[in-house]
Amino acid sequence: MKIGVHISISGSIDLAIDRALERGCDTFQIFTRNPRGWAFKDLSEENVKKFTSKLSDSEIAPVVVHMPYLPNLASPKKHIYKKSVDSLIAEVHRCGLLNIPYCVIHLGSHLGTGIEAGYNRVVDACNKALSTIDNDVIILLENTAGTKNSVGGAFEDLQHIISRVEQKSRVAICFDTCHAFSAGYELRERKALVNTLKHLDEVIGLNLLKVVHLNDSKGDLGSHIDRHEHIGLGFIGENGFKIILNNEVIKQLPLILETPIDSRGDDYVNLAKVRELAVK
Ligand code: MN
Ligand code: MN
Ligand code: ZN
Repeated sequence: MKIGVHISISGSIDLAIDRALERGCDTFQIFTRNPRGWAFKDLSEENVKKFTSKLSDSEIAPVVVHMPYLPNLASPKKHIYKKSVDSLIAEVHRCGLLNIPYCVIHLGSHLGTGIEAGYNRVVDACNKALSTIDNDVIILLENTAGTKNSVGGAFEDLQHIISRVEQKSRVAICFDTCHAFSAGYELRERKALVNTLKHLDEVIGLNLLKVVHLNDSKGDLGSHIDRHEHIGLGFIGENGFKIILNNEVIKQLPLILETPIDSRGDDYVNLAKVRELAVK
């Protein structure tokens, strides 16, 4: 199985690979820059070289990039929307430089202007980024917890967008277990999980599922609360993850944890828990 965590690039982006190896990751996710601001520097040629050579010397694959937090690709505010699209263009470009195949995006909030308007803005943003940056990077749309005004809580939301992206080979999805569960998709029982994945297959197609974000949930089923919990300590629970990790579809995908680091656990604890629960 391919299991990893979200890794810090603090100090220098290539250090992410050292940290991933230290944690025994087969795959991992990064932000290519500070996720809490708009400003960023271009990647230096030296940093790109260090990152790509360390990566190719390792057996880690794939690496996944996550978009920073501030961009809202569904925003009705012109200024914010423009900056958000520019951020997406930059991330797709940076993924290409770093030999990273996937860029995970949140679909944002339409801020009360309606889901259709939200879809339109996200579709335009994807088309703009993919037509501006000519590389092989694939944008992965991440399902959300379905909080108020958010786009992406239902599989149908993702499909609406995918169907209108022009470069079909460059859009796919990332499935977050915490988000799906809190959006109302049951995952904790074998049959329910199979049904959820069958629904995803019918609406989007399992062939488009490229990455799984493996997180437990502080909110209950259908709570629409987006708060990640340590594996096994949330409402999905140890038994739920045993079932998830032994599912034939899920276990073949890159699994990336975005779990907390606090007094109850850290990356090492969560990775060990996943490996323990993955054994039948
Ligand atoms: Mn995310
Ligand atoms: Mn996620
Ligand atoms: Zn989340």
